[in-house]
Amino acid sequence: MLTTSLATDQAHLMHPLHHPSAHAGTRVWVKGEGARITDATGRHYIDGLSGLWNVNIGHGRRELADAAQKQMSTLAFHSAYAGGTNEQAIRLAERLSGLAYPSINTFFFTSGGAESSESSFKTARFYWKALGQPDKIKVISRHRAYHGLTLAAMSATGLPAFWPMFEPRTPGFSHIEAPDPYRFAHTDTSVSLGVAAANKLEEAILKEGADTVAAFIAEPVQGAGGVIVPPADYFPRIRQICDQYDVLLIADDVITGFGRTGTWFGLQHYGIEPDIMQFAKGITSGYVPLGGIGVSDRIREVINGVGPGQRWMHAFTYSGHPTCCAVALANLDIIEGEGLVARAATSGARLLRTLRELESLDGVGHVRGQGLMAAVEVVADKATRQLHAPALGVSQKLMDGMLERGLYTRAVMDCICIAPPLMISDADLDRMVGIIAETIPAVLATVRQTAAPAR
Ligand code: PMP
Repeated sequence: MLTTSLATDQAHLMHPLHHPSAHAGTRVWVKGEGARITDATGRHYIDGLSGLWNVNIGHGRRELADAAQKQMSTLAFHSAYAGGTNEQAIRLAERLSGLAYPSINTFFFTSGGAESSESSFKTARFYWKALGQPDKIKVISRHRAYHGLTLAAMSATGLPAFWPMFEPRTPGFSHIEAPDPYRFAHTDTSVSLGVAAANKLEEAILKEGADTVAAFIAEPVQGAGGVIVPPADYFPRIRQICDQYDVLLIADDVITGFGRTGTWFGLQHYGIEPDIMQFAKGITSGYVPLGGIGVSDRIREVINGVGPGQRWMHAFTYSGHPTCCAVALANLDIIEGEGLVARAATSGARLLRTLRELESLDGVGHVRGQGLMAAVEVVADKATRQLHAPALGVSQKLMDGMLERGLYTRAVMDCICIAPPLMISDADLDRMVGIIAETIPAVLATVRQTAAPAR
């Protein structure tokens, strides 16, 4: 039962993506257990997005609460600024070096994804300055990318809806096309779609001038932009281009880390390594806030090699927070102990197989996924792949329709995103697909009524 009121919420609380109109039918979330969440009226829902793509182990795991309790009652917090440290941060960094890409063995902790983006961008600039190339400062990212919403991260984010009321954006950020197999304009058919999409990076580097570009940042699977899974030859070609032009490759593993795609980290599918990786979300399954970056040995050597006056003058109060690191360690114990990475791969294959059956439905343009990360893209016209007019509010109607039927998730640009906890049962996976299958025709029927010209 709710012991306060929504009027009090409206009087005092500003929400992410705030607008009163978006808050009318608000649910108050009170409990989570496994892949299910419960609202204040006692209704249960399948958590089809693991909270915000982060509750990888599922809700309600006592072990994480115990780890937090133990650490908080011993040393909840102390500074990890150079000259101080704590056992939990040391153990977590060491553990990550065994799980992450082979040449990434050194970690800096933040409190979330956007701080990780800022840390990556600043580290890329630092690296080139330390090497005597102070003009290499620009960052290239992709349309439909999501890298967070602090000012520089927002500038790398390639979803224009986030920009207008906060512009000007940080100078030096630009975007190339996303490697979307469904929507990429594949005009250069002398090469595959994946290579053609990667070659857009080369074009952009040449346009900007290679001696001004510090880094390219990419999510292994673009998440909030609609779960865009690149063709298998995309990232290997991206790696080649980055090497050729001395541009650092930053992997934004904030969603794709910690098992989500069926490997520990997203680029492990392609046998290539980034120079910097960033993570958040799944490292603690969202139980407490924690994020970070990992840097390659080569970058670590450069950071360690400058004089004290040039030091890496970057910091957050909560970097290496002992309680958050203790919770992360307990979370990793569960992911490893319960084989959740392999489970994401097998459950994901099953999910994709059943979702693909929806492609025969009217209005379903494209289904894609990797591991337990998938999307169903709803279109107005399957032949032209045209989306519904934004004014029709199809995404919101889909979310409302799924919620009414007992499935919590988000839809962006009419792509229904699906990323349940990695421990979800087959029965819940099937139930989720069933709800999506029911919701799409129901929503499209009402949308067509609205959109039909009056007689
Ligand atoms: N990068 C990616 C790939 C993300 O998905 C997100 C959050 N959805 C972020 C960065 C930003 O994370 P945060 O909201 O913790 O700042």
